[in-house]
Amino acid sequence: MEVCVSIKIYNTLTRKKEEFQPIKKGEVGMYVCGPTVYDVPHIGHARSAYAFDVVRRYFIYRGYKVKFVRNVTDVDDKIINKAKEEFKGEDLNGAIKKVSDKYLKVYHEYMKKLGIMSPDREPKATEYIEKMIDFIKILIEREVAYASGGDVYFEVRKVNGYGKLSNQSFEMLESGARIVSGENKKDQLDFALWKSAKEGESSWQSPWGNGRPGWHIECSVMSSDILGGEFDIHGGGIDLVFPHHENEVAQSEGAGNKFARYWIHNGLLTINKEKMAKSLGNFITMEEVLKKYSPDALKLLFLKTHYAHPVDFSWERMEEAKKAVERFKILFDKIGRLKAEGSRLKADFMEPRDLNLEPDINSFRVKFESAMDDDFNTAEALAALFDLVTYINKQAPGSSYAKDILIELGKVFGLFEHKAEGIDSSKKAEIENLINLRNAARKNKDFKEADRIRDKLSDIGIAIEDQKGETTWRLK
Ligand SMILES: [Zn+2]
Repeated sequence: MEVCVSIKIYNTLTRKKEEFQPIKKGEVGMYVCGPTVYDVPHIGHARSAYAFDVVRRYFIYRGYKVKFVRNVTDVDDKIINKAKEEFKGEDLNGAIKKVSDKYLKVYHEYMKKLGIMSPDREPKATEYIEKMIDFIKILIEREVAYASGGDVYFEVRKVNGYGKLSNQSFEMLESGARIVSGENKKDQLDFALWKSAKEGESSWQSPWGNGRPGWHIECSVMSSDILGGEFDIHGGGIDLVFPHHENEVAQSEGAGNKFARYWIHNGLLTINKEKMAKSLGNFITMEEVLKKYSPDALKLLFLKTHYAHPVDFSWERMEEAKKAVERFKILFDKIGRLKAEGSRLKADFMEPRDLNLEPDINSFRVKFESAMDDDFNTAEALAALFDLVTYINKQAPGSSYAKDILIELGKVFGLFEHKAEGIDSSKKAEIENLINLRNAARKNKDFKEADRIRDKLSDIGIAIEDQKGETTWRLK
């Protein structure tokens, strides 16, 4: 498909909103830092994964061919500690593999439940050790890295522009840096590319002795191996800008690569305006949320906040999101019902083309697209979807044309994929029962009772209309 759209992206690197220009016409190469697999996924993981899922889906909607890469960090201090704890007394290497396999499986399970598209490639750090060693050798050859006492360090002052991604001067960096005892670096700002093995840890052979890679090197190596030395978009949580992404830039440019053109960072997640942390006792897992709420409800909560801003989670906000999801459900249900039962209202049968509503309906698509073109403004795009719902309810309640557009746009947000069509049957039965009771009251000229029932419906968020002897309902 010919791509001739203009998508603007806020680029962390330039601190500006820029028009997206792909390296290869019609294609997007995207690398997002994935999970370190040592625990069950929490809702912060869900937020980050969903933010980039929406970016990816929108490029696809706009006709781009997207290659999406998300890595898995399967060797790291946290995994090693968990292995010692969960598989006490067992061979440590085997235990590390057990921990990472177990938690990667759980991560996949919940990404699937939430409806996040699988990455096109999902490289694991442990599969890339050889290539990381080769990359480190290049950095030493190019004299931006040095071996020291079994470790290898990147020499930060040897490259131009260190600090440009996180917008920090050397003075600022120095004030935050320190040398941990046991490190053999020349300068406090240098960071480890390779760490010599500690007693009992899993390690790999290298020209510098047994050891394992530092964390930052894997992303420089895996991204360039799969997407090339220069690629379009690199994403991750805002907490990764420094040091992780700054160091990725240094390593990649140090090796002679141009690296990522656009850097996208998602804001973090707070719980009732507080940081989420196990130590604060406010840690919420994906399991907890998805046990009580549909994936669409959680997605709606996220969509209301721009991806770059912090999103606040609370159970009250989940309740609101659940109600908002019902507005879609009720509409879909109503369209299905009107079609199945047949309606005496002529407008219900007519498609918008016949009613001349097509330009109106398409204007909601235009609003949706211009919001998304503007640095993926999901809050505004979502508002356009709800405006479309209101419009359909009022102007074309039985229109499958309008419904198809709603579903097509909803797909950009991964919505309506979980059998969302049709509100749950108990609520539907409750509404219809109340309408029947009200109609009976009106027949008996008990208008007081009829009004009471109308108020009751209103209290549960349902508006009713009487037209030509027929009562129809919609969510307010
Ligand atoms: Zn990374």
